[in-house]
Amino acid sequence: MESKVCTSCKRREAFFFRPYSGEKLCKRCFIKSFEDKVRATIIKYNMLEYGDSVAIAVSGGKDSISLLHILTKIELDYPKVSFIAVTVDEGIRRYRDEALRIAAKNCRKLKIEHHIISFKELYGYTLDEIVGHLKKEGKNKLTPCAYCGVLRRKALNIAARDAKVDKLATAHTLDDETQTILLNILHGDVLRLAKGKPITDQVHPTLTRRVKPFCEIPEKETALYAYTKQIKFQGIPCPYASGAMRNDMRLFLNRMEEKHAGIKFTIFKSMEKTRPAIGKMFEKKELKKCIRCGEPTVGDICKSCEMLLQLFDA
Ligand code: SF4
Ligand code: ZN
Ligand code: ZN
Repeated sequence: MESKVCTSCKRREAFFFRPYSGEKLCKRCFIKSFEDKVRATIIKYNMLEYGDSVAIAVSGGKDSISLLHILTKIELDYPKVSFIAVTVDEGIRRYRDEALRIAAKNCRKLKIEHHIISFKELYGYTLDEIVGHLKKEGKNKLTPCAYCGVLRRKALNIAARDAKVDKLATAHTLDDETQTILLNILHGDVLRLAKGKPITDQVHPTLTRRVKPFCEIPEKETALYAYTKQIKFQGIPCPYASGAMRNDMRLFLNRMEEKHAGIKFTIFKSMEKTRPAIGKMFEKKELKKCIRCGEPTVGDICKSCEMLLQLFDA
């Protein structure tokens, strides 16, 4: 009969099998290996430096809440690094309201300062209002996620800058990263392939560098970490998620991973190896100031202003 003993401590009963490594782990060894992997990723990509102040982007879902907990634990290894949490309130009724409560509760428990930035205050519209307008006008083929992604990116930049932090940590997992790599290929967006590093370059003094300590952690494991640590997170999905192309990519990659364990790592590592060569294809462009909002942009007007203008002022 197949052994159920943990392959790490060789004493306790295993509860988790890691197909890509062949390890069987008990709860305690799983938690340790998860935390060690995050520490190793931070060191490998030099994500945290002495004296850094870091904003953690916390949506309230399992990935970001796990990141909040693990970074506050890791903080003990980096006594001179300080953390705050930032949540973007896109204005998605019920869904984001609940997530905000969960994020705030976790921050209180961990004694982390919590900043909230909302679409309504920043742009004058909630995402629900934008989607309502899209439906009414019927003039745009973009999905709610396309608007949400662009507007949230800018909101996080502004929140990080206002909080005067050195880095912005996001909870993108190995799954998110591999989905993004393949989506960028499907969209022919080679520049984004070059930019999506585990730690982004400092391209402009007003844009905070982003770090992704979970970039080598499969999403399944962040969920398991949250469950085993009994961390409360939001379980319901966003009502707008189902229409996104990312969903198809998630299903595709999960099916591939089931048949060929480790394929997500292979995609991620291939990208890491080819990224420097792709990066050389692009000249460094001087960023300008958006004529409408003043945020850095390659053209005359930034993407979020362009989207909102097309929707409401056209
Ligand atoms: Fe925004 Fe789409 Fe995510 Fe919902 S699923 S929060 S609309 S990006
Ligand atoms: Zn063990
Ligand atoms: Zn703008």
